[in-house]
Amino acid sequence: MIIKPKTRGFICTTAHPEGCKHNVREQIDYVRAAGIINDGPKNVLIIGSSTGYGLASRIVAAFGCKAKTVGVFFERPASGDKTASAGWYNSVAFKQYAESAGLVAENINGDAFSTDIKDKVLRVVKDKLGKVDCLIYSLAAPRRTDPLTGETYRSVLKPIGEKFSSKTVNVDTNEVYNIELEPATPEEITGTIKVMGGEDWELWIQALLDEGLLADGAKTVAYSYLGPQMTKPIYSHGTIGKAKEDLDRAVISINDMLSKINGHACISVNKAVVTQASSAIPVVPLYISLLFKVMKEKNVHEGCIEQMYRLFKNHLYGTDESVDEVGRVHLDNFEMQPDVQAAVLELWSKVNTEDIVQTSDIIGYRKEFLKLFGFGIDGINYNLDVTP
Ligand code: NAD
Repeated sequence: MIIKPKTRGFICTTAHPEGCKHNVREQIDYVRAAGIINDGPKNVLIIGSSTGYGLASRIVAAFGCKAKTVGVFFERPASGDKTASAGWYNSVAFKQYAESAGLVAENINGDAFSTDIKDKVLRVVKDKLGKVDCLIYSLAAPRRTDPLTGETYRSVLKPIGEKFSSKTVNVDTNEVYNIELEPATPEEITGTIKVMGGEDWELWIQALLDEGLLADGAKTVAYSYLGPQMTKPIYSHGTIGKAKEDLDRAVISINDMLSKINGHACISVNKAVVTQASSAIPVVPLYISLLFKVMKEKNVHEGCIEQMYRLFKNHLYGTDESVDEVGRVHLDNFEMQPDVQAAVLELWSKVNTEDIVQTSDIIGYRKEFLKLFGFGIDGINYNLDVTP
């Protein structure tokens, strides 16, 4: 079948298997060229391993550290004339590349929040890895059913306390316009914390500890974001920011749990990048388009793979112990440099529909968005028949 992108706002309902495979290969090539990370982990469990930061973490663990990996994700396989989701193709491609490099790579597709999938993962870990020495927690999910109560919670991307009005962009039409976002209800705030906060990360650690499946000195990291002043009302001061604050609570409790095995938990504050999760956040695509223009011009631009390589090599398994006042690692250091932020702010104040192509990197943003689904890649003939 001929597979073309079918986009609706921040969603693309098709994905191209060859394009997704190319994206995985490109990240593997980056890591191979960057070099082996000495004293890295040997057995890595990645929750949310099929796209974005989780996939990049898995690629660094496998191809930078030669680790065995178990990846957990929630993706759609192909059926009838519907393609699989990009994360499904990525995970198949990752497994092929890893196995041909002699690396153990197990994929588990299912709801990471559920007890069933946790049990299944623990069995696979026991069989294929033995003990885990690194757990990466990289979920971005719209909903979660609490395994204890059976209640389902939804995460929303809303401001808290008052309406937020801001510039934004329609990435299909380049129209820059003003949106008003209504504040979240108390239930929506609770729901977002339940889904995107630290509770499930704690449950994973507890489940591994209960089964004796964490190695002495095991490390775990979850990903967070803070961002600049202009996205504060929708990000760090919004519902998702509350969930990220809950990670700061969870990391303390996890460090307590890990003390008996000399383990360590931390949070890594990563840079804004184009992923399926970030493209769904109102206002953020406009900020990212401006940020990319500035960071590319200043030669400090990075994507997921560069960030994750840096995290493993310098921080998790390196000598850079710098953390902020609450113990978080900052990979967003280039994004948050004062000169970068000043330049973005200046562009933000003047960007409009007429000049957005010059003022921002909206073209690059859209290219990266389509690339997430395997489209727009040089060298791939999109007119050829492929088996989905
Ligand atoms: P993403 O959308 O690319 O990936 C989300 C992953 O979660 C996928 O592998 C998906 O399959 C998996 N997933 C979703 N629901 C699941 C479920 N119920 N069970 C199992 N797997 C499930 O997201 P991302 O942008 O890479 O985000 C990962 C983490 O990084 C998040 O915590 C996010 O807040 C954080 N982060 C993202 C950015 C950014 O700009 N994208 C910046 C800093 C931090």
